[in-house]
Amino acid sequence: MIRYLTELSLKAFDDAARNIPYQQIQSELFPGVDLWVRRDDLIDPVISGNKAYKLIYNLLQARDEGRNTIVTCGGAWSNHIHATAAAGQRFGFKTVGIIRGQRPPELSAMLQDAERFGMELLFVTRADYRRRHEPGFVASACRRSKVCAEDYWFVPEGGANRQGAQGVQLLGKVIQETGPVPFEECWVPCGTGLTLGALASGLETTKAVGVAVLNAGQSIGESASKWASLGRQSREFELIGDCHHGGYGKSSEALVTFQEQMERQVNLVLDHVYTSKLLYALAQRLRSTSLLQESCQKAILLMHTGGLQGRRGVTKTG
Ligand SMILES: *Cc1c(COP(=O)(O)O)cnc(C)c1O
Repeated sequence: MIRYLTELSLKAFDDAARNIPYQQIQSELFPGVDLWVRRDDLIDPVISGNKAYKLIYNLLQARDEGRNTIVTCGGAWSNHIHATAAAGQRFGFKTVGIIRGQRPPELSAMLQDAERFGMELLFVTRADYRRRHEPGFVASACRRSKVCAEDYWFVPEGGANRQGAQGVQLLGKVIQETGPVPFEECWVPCGTGLTLGALASGLETTKAVGVAVLNAGQSIGESASKWASLGRQSREFELIGDCHHGGYGKSSEALVTFQEQMERQVNLVLDHVYTSKLLYALAQRLRSTSLLQESCQKAILLMHTGGLQGRRGVTKTG
């Protein structure tokens, strides 16, 4: 069954989140655990995974404030740009994407989608893009825009703002209330770290574990800590920093083989940037600890955060 987010309301979104299936995984690659995957890749075919959660409160606030344009920024394979463009088309917002780098002769499949969804793309040089956190960056890019009026709503790269965190907190709460078993751990892939931190703050009895998909030193953990302390109380989480396979969008032979093996064995499609690194990291952890744990079948939840549109970029990265 294909699921669509059809209406912009908190009630409709919450219902959609509560109806996301949990899929049990049995595979010798994950010994000694009771393993489940929460299929947030299914929340919508084009407003994918965790990006839908980061957008919901942004869209609701933009609408409540009467702003009809959403402006955001990202790279040529950003799942967030893709989701924002799709959500804008679905719910009646104009969208503007400030994109890092020169406009290429041929747009990535992802940017072609974004344009097809009606997003206006404004390309800025990499040097200018580095100033994206400074005041004036958006206004300056928007001077070149045809649609960007004064009263736009700006969503930072990756959906990393307070409204984004609020949506992911909601996800944590929904997991706590709808999980088929009480999970001991909930594993999630990390780019900015917002999803890890905000999830940790939304979960009550489950520990959040993040797998960094890029080599970003301390910054992912710092950002996750910031978002984890937004809740009523700051939550503990764990971040695995050494399973990025060479960096963002990079891969290794072991990872490619693993992803193929997983997709063959279980009814699950993964992307190479986020979710395959997540499953790989857990399999690796279990290989090194399974002897100790055989007697206690820990219940672990893996978050399928979506990102499948990015599979089309597999030959263009690495
Ligand atoms: C963006 C993204 C993430 C990372 O989320 P952060 O909050 O930036 O850490 C994980 N998985 C997928 C599929 C994504 O698109």
